Amino acid sequence: DSILIHANTHTYPVYIGENIRFQLQELLPKSYDSILIITDDHVARLYLDDLSNSLEGSSVHTAIIPAGEQSKSIHSFYELHSQAIRYGLDRSSLIIALGGGVVGDVAGFVAATYMRGIDFVQVPTTVLAHDSSVGGKVAINHESGKNLIGNFYSPIMVLYDVSTLHTLPLKELRSGYAEIMKEAFLADEKLLWDVMELDLTHNDNYERIRHLEKGIQIKANTVEQDEKEAGKRKFLNLGHTLGHAIEAELGYGSITHGEAVAIGLLFAIDVSEKEYAINLHADKLFTWLTNNHYPLNMDNVCIEALLKRMKMDKKATNQRIQMVLLEEMSKPVLIEIEDTTLRSYIESFFAKLQ
Ligand code: NAD
Ligand code: ZN
Repeated sequence: DSILIHANTHTYPVYIGENIRFQLQELLPKSYDSILIITDDHVARLYLDDLSNSLEGSSVHTAIIPAGEQSKSIHSFYELHSQAIRYGLDRSSLIIALGGGVVGDVAGFVAATYMRGIDFVQVPTTVLAHDSSVGGKVAINHESGKNLIGNFYSPIMVLYDVSTLHTLPLKELRSGYAEIMKEAFLADEKLLWDVMELDLTHNDNYERIRHLEKGIQIKANTVEQDEKEAGKRKFLNLGHTLGHAIEAELGYGSITHGEAVAIGLLFAIDVSEKEYAINLHADKLFTWLTNNHYPLNMDNVCIEALLKRMKMDKKATNQRIQMVLLEEMSKPVLIEIEDTTLRSYIESFFAKLQ
């Protein structure tokens, strides 16, 4: 059982289950003479052997980058190309990305560019990577902004072994679940109430599989209708206008992507309730985030600095800030918002977080 993703270029399966990392070989659509596994140093210690041992008959090489956002750099990108050349990878070789969104993004971009593109497989090991491994975006960062250098390039397969999530730090679980919450608000109210019941310290594989499958399906449905972000795909930015600004302002490493998105999501829900005079249960979301110990205190964050970052965001059109709101549950809309209005919304929102 797998979820099929229909990209512009090809259709590929997402396999999701327990301990399926050991089935990599048999699930690959063909055999490869030469394979390069790219991973980070945390994940390498935990799962690299499992994966490479399950690949018999190919010559398997590995490249390990330091864990963390700083590895999405032109330096790692170039270094990985150097290793691919050194190992003699050719157009018929395979790159496997084993890890979270960082590894997936940089390894995917290497695969997209090495000899103008070779096959690649995503083996996500974080909850957040359910989002990054589907949808075909691959990128590295430029010093002046995140994901500024990249491409659209889909894997030939995604192998999502939820058993690897047992070793994932709680902070990273929170990060990934914020995106699942976002997807639930966008398209699946049942999933929303399901996750609202959840205590992140106590959820089991079966629950996770269900949530991840639904999240992946929502993302897939959205991008299939709009692969290159002309319209619908922008809805996936729900919570990201403020989220990205907070993430950049506090600095990568002090807050995870999803933790920042959780605050941005709560904000977007709060603004939607005001703009459309509806109840989207922002209070319940706030309680859930608090109970699960999401960092919500924004006391020391400068609102002016956030506004400046939101204007710099590559998604802002001629200085007007775009934001996704919900007109009603599961009905996203993209609006443009004046700075002054936005500033007052943020002020009253931050006051409530104290
Ligand atoms: P990450 O890849 O940095 O992983 C988080 C941390 O968890 C790292 O320290 C990693 O070593 C560790 N880790 C990973 N798997 C583990 C496991 N099973 N057990 C123990 N530790 C483990 O971060 P992430 O949150 O997965 O991804 C964030 C990145 O994803 C960002 O760069 C973001 O821009 C990108 N992203 C891309 C897309 C896309 O569409 N391409 C979408 C969303 C996010
Ligand atoms: Zn995100």
